Amino acid sequence: MENILEKITSLAKRRGFIYPGSEIYGGLSGTWDYGPMGVELKRNIKQLFWRSIVQQRDNIVGIDTAILMHPRVWEASGHVENFTDPLRECSTCKKRFRADALATEKNKEGLCPSCNAPLGETRQFNLLMETSLGAVENDKQKVYLRGEITQGVHVNFKQVMQSSRVTIPFGVAQIGKAFRNEITPGQLSFRSREFEQMELQFYIQPNKKEATHWFDYWKQERMSWYQSLGLSKKLLRFREHNPDERAHYAQSACDIEFKLGNEWKEMEGIHNRGDWDLRRHQEYSGEDMRYFDPESKERYIPWVIETSGGVDRAALFFLANAYSEEKTDKEVRIVLKLHPQLAPYKVAIFPLLSNKPELVTLARSVYDDLKVMWMVDWDDRGNVGKRYRYQDEAGTPYCITVDFDSLNQNDVTVRNRDTMKQERVLISELPDYLTNKLNTSNNVLI
Ligand code: ATP
Repeated sequence: MENILEKITSLAKRRGFIYPGSEIYGGLSGTWDYGPMGVELKRNIKQLFWRSIVQQRDNIVGIDTAILMHPRVWEASGHVENFTDPLRECSTCKKRFRADALATEKNKEGLCPSCNAPLGETRQFNLLMETSLGAVENDKQKVYLRGEITQGVHVNFKQVMQSSRVTIPFGVAQIGKAFRNEITPGQLSFRSREFEQMELQFYIQPNKKEATHWFDYWKQERMSWYQSLGLSKKLLRFREHNPDERAHYAQSACDIEFKLGNEWKEMEGIHNRGDWDLRRHQEYSGEDMRYFDPESKERYIPWVIETSGGVDRAALFFLANAYSEEKTDKEVRIVLKLHPQLAPYKVAIFPLLSNKPELVTLARSVYDDLKVMWMVDWDDRGNVGKRYRYQDEAGTPYCITVDFDSLNQNDVTVRNRDTMKQERVLISELPDYLTNKLNTSNNVLI
């Protein structure tokens, strides 16, 4: 579809998925706020990640670490030295560009894409964001807002080992905010300065055979997860990194990419980080970061396979994947065909007419019963056709209408978002009916 990003941007704002950050003050570049629909979508993504990675596995535990960490962490991790992007600044308008992105734009190398004046030399720009801690003005300590959530896991490696019964191979998962002073934020929330990551750090025995096995395993698992939530196979691919483009910590790296319009974009990275993190933290902190293998009685620093995905990028790609326009006789029907598990509202409930108290009362009681189980919406405005369109745009999989027959027959009309087919269902059977419909598709448990 042409201009999918424009369409998503407009829908996201119109329907309360994503708003530009601090908009009433003119906005703050690279920040985004999630509205009433967006917050549900994002929570669903995170919850489903947690279920698939932590809840449904024996050897993975979760953690939630602080955004602010000791500054030495970022020296040990290599971020102070290496977490840079190549930057070129325009000599005239002073706009800044990522040199690697410029190189792909034909005929523009060396000239400012904005005003055509010559660009300055390429220099390395560090993406870590700084802030300061402490109440006394001249005695403040410089700290960083974490540039990745990964390090919180590695610095707690010993604590997790000592306080839980994990044995290698095992994983520690985390979801949380990360901050990067991106040179060119943009494409809606694709590249933001504040964003959320969902990660797994999976500790393994330190050898190539294990690393190859688990690297392949996690690539497939993560790809299947995105597909199980409805991302089209045609819009997904793996892209292995060449040795010269790998991050400073990575022995091997592969991205899961999504095709947004005509462009393939990174959604998640799977990396073999080797023993980089634990070895460096051992060196910088002086703590013994080795694992004691109870079977072989050996001590060693494990290697790490990581899966690192962006919650905001996933949200954006789920929206782009779900967006569809269907031409009917009279109009274009905009439908977000989100997987039911991701949809902000699972069900919307309508009284056929808002001025008939007996319909409203019965519809309210259906609504009250269902809202205990799922996020459900209520709508009694306009006519039912308009309410359907409104829910279609927000991705609500089922709409329930209480009509005059409902008063005698104790049943309702349930309408399916994708097929637009309607069927009568007894009110008493709605919880089972919806549990079935919402839970069984694509084997993802709610
Ligand atoms: P890119 O090359 O696009 O800058 P990266 O390779 O630096 O990304 P990683 O450091 O591997 O990204 O981070 C893991 C994941 O975190 C990415 O796959 C992406 O989903 C997410 N991510 C990274 N940077 C951003 C950002 N600025 N805005 C939103 N999400 C991001």
